Amino acid sequence: HKYVYDFSEGNKDLKDLLGGKGANLAEMTNLGLPVPPGFTITTEACKAYLATGQQPDGLAGQIEAHLESLERAMGKRLGDPQDPLLVSVRSGAKFSMPGMMETVLNVGLNDQSVVGLSAQAGGNDRFAWDSYRRLIQMFGKTVCEVPGEEFEHALDEAKSAKGTHNDLDLDADDLRGLVDAYKKIFLKHTGREFPQQPREQLDLAIRAVFESWNAERAILYRRQERIPTDLGTAVNVVTMVFGNLGPDSGTGVAFTRDPASGAQGIYGDYLANAQGEDVVAGIRNTVPLQELEQLDKTSYDQLLGIMARLEEHYKDLCDIEFTIERGKLWMLQTRVGKRTAAAAFVIAGQLVDEGLIDLDEALHRVNGAQLAQLMFPRFQLDHEFQPVAKGIGASPGAASGTVVFTSARAVEMAAEGKSVILVRRETNPDDLNGMIAAQGILTSRGGKTSHAAVVARGMGKTCVSGADEIEVNVPAKRFTVAGQTVNEGDVVSIDGTTGKVYLGEVPVMPSEVVQYFEGSLDPEHIDNALVRAVHRIMTHADGKRRLAVRTNADTGADAARARRFGAEGIGLCRTEHMFLGDRRELVERLILARAPGEREAALEALLPLQRADFEEIFREMDGLPVTVRLIDPPLHEFLPPLEQLAVNVAVAQERGEDVAKEEALLAAVRRMHEENPMLGLRGVRLGLVIPGLFAMQVRAIAEAAVACARGGGVAKPEIMVPLVGAVQELETVRAEAEKIIAEVVGDSGVEVLIGTMIEVPRAALTAGQIAEAAEFFSFGTNDLTQMGWGFSRDDVEGAFFWRYLELGIFGISPFESIDRDGVGRLVRIAAEEGRAARPGLKLGVCGEHGGDPDSVHFFHEVGLDYVSCSPFRVPVARLEAGRAVV
Ligand code: ADP
Ligand code: MG
Ligand code: MG
Repeated sequence: HKYVYDFSEGNKDLKDLLGGKGANLAEMTNLGLPVPPGFTITTEACKAYLATGQQPDGLAGQIEAHLESLERAMGKRLGDPQDPLLVSVRSGAKFSMPGMMETVLNVGLNDQSVVGLSAQAGGNDRFAWDSYRRLIQMFGKTVCEVPGEEFEHALDEAKSAKGTHNDLDLDADDLRGLVDAYKKIFLKHTGREFPQQPREQLDLAIRAVFESWNAERAILYRRQERIPTDLGTAVNVVTMVFGNLGPDSGTGVAFTRDPASGAQGIYGDYLANAQGEDVVAGIRNTVPLQELEQLDKTSYDQLLGIMARLEEHYKDLCDIEFTIERGKLWMLQTRVGKRTAAAAFVIAGQLVDEGLIDLDEALHRVNGAQLAQLMFPRFQLDHEFQPVAKGIGASPGAASGTVVFTSARAVEMAAEGKSVILVRRETNPDDLNGMIAAQGILTSRGGKTSHAAVVARGMGKTCVSGADEIEVNVPAKRFTVAGQTVNEGDVVSIDGTTGKVYLGEVPVMPSEVVQYFEGSLDPEHIDNALVRAVHRIMTHADGKRRLAVRTNADTGADAARARRFGAEGIGLCRTEHMFLGDRRELVERLILARAPGEREAALEALLPLQRADFEEIFREMDGLPVTVRLIDPPLHEFLPPLEQLAVNVAVAQERGEDVAKEEALLAAVRRMHEENPMLGLRGVRLGLVIPGLFAMQVRAIAEAAVACARGGGVAKPEIMVPLVGAVQELETVRAEAEKIIAEVVGDSGVEVLIGTMIEVPRAALTAGQIAEAAEFFSFGTNDLTQMGWGFSRDDVEGAFFWRYLELGIFGISPFESIDRDGVGRLVRIAAEEGRAARPGLKLGVCGEHGGDPDSVHFFHEVGLDYVSCSPFRVPVARLEAGRAVV
């Protein structure tokens, strides 16, 4: 079994095996770019190690062999006292998990080789001891779980003893002293001396990288990002190059385009005389990459050349880590870079213009989740609001909230329902919980590539980073800016697009993308790269998709809005809201009716109201199909709650008032009380036991359609019967409905379809029979999920879903994204057997899954005709339906 690959043996398509970092290091090596030599231990080896707790057979020998050939190639031996080869040991999973797992630099240094390293660097003691103290710090923290603060504390003490804030002011002697202090810390926490054997250092570091796959924060990050739990990480062993050799050395990160806006140009951060982690951690403030041109023009030009080459090769935005060692440029990492939603659309459009990709590929490169993000509102700024600070717009959006300074406090206040802004000097992986809980993140340090920025962008969370006018004082729970003090509990607003920070709550305005969908921004006539790119890609998606997209709408206003968003009809018009408000009174009369006459009177009073509702909806959806669901919820939902009513009656009785009417109501509520209303008297069952109820609704629908036709419109009603489990139920409703329709429609030319929801598992399993009586099926995947799993959504989501997600029983809530294997199988069976019994049977879905990107792809695969979702999700569904095809 081959567990170890030299960089020259891999390529970018081997991400499963070599992880993203390893695959791309191999790709760059093979492109002839300057990559320090090294090798990659596969994810297979990691998985084997995690399964057994031991390195798989053969791994040790292969590592040995690759290390030897690396030593031969470099002409140095690992940790050699005179001229040591040093390596970094870097994690790298298939999907990038920035800062989530472990990396150890400078492996191979010990009390002897530190001297050799100094001599080789021309007697640069400061550099050698700085590298050694970094090794002990990183090794201690990540391999041996020594608390990182202890090292930081010792570093701070060394600096304050020297009277400085800048680690560059520490000289070789200070750093040698720091190494001693670090070793003591190491001994105290691990009970052993810092390991002096280079090979032992290497093996322990490799093991730690394997184990970091299951670190708590890595698990949390994977859950948030929906990364599978069983992939494992690869380990890259890379020859060290040094950015901390002096002012002619340094390290940096870069993007080939602006990952926030997509704009073309040079984007990156550079830090002279520093080692890797310093840039991303925001330890010192970086300079913009452009300044490298003054510092080292040769390397700068070479870097720009490589960036152009990488973009052309990957045909996409790339991000890059590089180091300059005494004027020599080294590439340490590249990958197709993360980007904001806006940048994703803009860049896809640009790459089409540049001829690097076609429109199908552009459609691939964006997704519905990004589009949904772009439909969020933005700040509405007038003169009243002046920014108090400007940082870097690291992840767009407009967020206002209460200031908090710790992750724990963010979690606490979010749980109280408050919107919070997490303010930190810089974030690190320990802040992940707080970042998830917060509305937005504000840091005073770090660039576009800092931890805060990268993680926030991935989460779609608003972030302003590097707002360095802000002085953060975490222990005192306050920050100061522009002479003002902001305490925990005060409100601030941050704009993740412009990087501006405001005190107080700034009002928000709708997004341009929404304005475009609503028709108030013409993409041909405005200079807005985002709107133009969205328009172009949406147009392509519409041209490609096979699935139609309808909307769930219960009112004319919703219908009109959804239509502007591109809805091609209504897939679910719920009729229950038509029984609320003033009409409750009529429903009460209906329920309390004793004699047939009373019930009929109540229904007759409801009829014109319902008809008017339907007329309005048909008018807005003129020419498009409208699926109306007959009343679904149990009728007691329209009555006052039992406890409240009982109290009212008791109080009134006490006062000696006449409570005959209330008592009758109370009796009815008691009679209708259900232990488990979700599985009780609802849907078609109501229609079968309450005479005249469905008939009234059918009549209202048919009359409204005829009225529309007479007014010159085209109404296409589809009457949908909920909760059917047996064909006989549907046949009974159908027989009554057909009579009424025939009578009302006459020769008006109106055509009314009758179909059913498929939301009870039995309906899915007897779909062949049910199709005989149905002209269409609409999958009610919310109820189908509840009944398929046997749990009630309202009760379980808060109660135990977190545990199921933690255990990996769900990758994602089955209410958010359809469970393909179980509930999805029911859909598949019903679609196949329904169509076999009635070719041309119309199939759609009207659960919330209709607007979920993954589910849309599933519905496309099983051959449905349309999905239906809330108006706001309509563009998302259109885009994803297009993506399902290309
Ligand atoms: P992450 O995935 O968290 O970015 P990396 O493995 O990329 O972790 O390494 C952390 C930092 O150390 C990066 O800045 C990287 O460029 C730097 N680094 C890694 N390996 C080397 C090396 N061989 N020489 C110099 N710097 C390195
Ligand atoms: Mg990296
Ligand atoms: Mg339902």
